[in-house]
Amino acid sequence: MDIEEHYSQLLGINSPWQISHVDLKMQEQRVDIEIEYADDEGPCPECGTICPKHDERKRRSWRHLDTMQFATYLHCELPRVRCKEHGVKTVKAPWAEKNSRFTLLFEGFAIRVLQAARSVEEARKLLGLNWHQVEAIKARAVKRGLSRREEVTIPHLGIDEKQFRSGHRYISSLVDLQGGRVLDVVEERTEQACKALIEQSLSEQQRQQVTAVALDMWKAYANAVGEKLPQADIVHDRFHISQHLNEAVDKVRRQENKQLIKQGDKRLVGTKFTWLVNEERVSEAFADQFEDLKRADLKVSRAWALKELFRDFWTYSYAGWAKRNFEKWYAWAIRSRLEPIKEKARMIRDHLPNILTYFKHRISNAVAEGLNSKIQTIKANARGYRSFEGFRNSILFYCGGLDMRP
Ligand SMILES: [Zn+2]
Repeated sequence: MDIEEHYSQLLGINSPWQISHVDLKMQEQRVDIEIEYADDEGPCPECGTICPKHDERKRRSWRHLDTMQFATYLHCELPRVRCKEHGVKTVKAPWAEKNSRFTLLFEGFAIRVLQAARSVEEARKLLGLNWHQVEAIKARAVKRGLSRREEVTIPHLGIDEKQFRSGHRYISSLVDLQGGRVLDVVEERTEQACKALIEQSLSEQQRQQVTAVALDMWKAYANAVGEKLPQADIVHDRFHISQHLNEAVDKVRRQENKQLIKQGDKRLVGTKFTWLVNEERVSEAFADQFEDLKRADLKVSRAWALKELFRDFWTYSYAGWAKRNFEKWYAWAIRSRLEPIKEKARMIRDHLPNILTYFKHRISNAVAEGLNSKIQTIKANARGYRSFEGFRNSILFYCGGLDMRP
């Protein structure tokens, strides 16, 4: 078997395509494979009709999987055919997607490396690609994946916001909570953006099948859900409420810390994260110190205790009991003389009907938050995406649950 035949089999190149020449460059560790189209007619890429050959386009190249350690490239002058209906069109190469500089096998491999690598940078180096090439492979992969998505029933959605770049630019994400995947993301966190997000991610029928949506106590999102998914219950979820209470605890700590420092008391310096974790998760190293702080008559320890107490709320089996529990908690919170806690307590009270829906649906954005931390890694990895499109592609590439094979 000569080397041309060997490569024809390896690459699955079939008639009328044929390998005319294989140039093995030992010094450069590189293989260049020339492919010819040996026919005077070919299929129109639009309709498949066999049409007469018109001419050849200028030579194009595709990177293929390395052969052993040899970087391997395919080259071909793709023929153009003249279709009666569609005019002069370039015949599609069977080894690559339109406009790609890589063969399908290479792209498939690159997708796997990108998914397995700890960072895009690591994958990029392993594959010997530049940043732009990696982004193009990801963009095509996501496009394929989205076009293959099946229209399934998605009963529970999560809507969440995420900071995009520094400053106050946000994206909104729509998550399939059961499927644990990001359906799509859009720029901004306005009512309009959220409506567009729902519309572009779900068909009319899918929208009607949604039974509940988990989201923060954020009016813009609630309004969008009310309009686009009127039959679905809104669930202001556990995850966001605990985030709000943590914010309040931290605010109390900051204010109190300032006061104490004025009096030369540094007890609260460096304790920010101690107060944000749940009691059972306070690390051993801090356990003693934490015990002392809790027992001391500090505002932050009272705030923390109220935050911890609220966790009981979620343990009830029925909304009615949970509501009674809340009323008790609310009375304590309001009498606490801790402004940040009182503020959040009122916020929770005002939204209570859509918090009690939890006991019917039992959903939270915890899944979405898991995906969020993945998105955070994507952001850090990318050292800040310049364009929203690139950021969106990466999110869908890693969190979209897509079938992206070429
Ligand atoms: Zn045609």
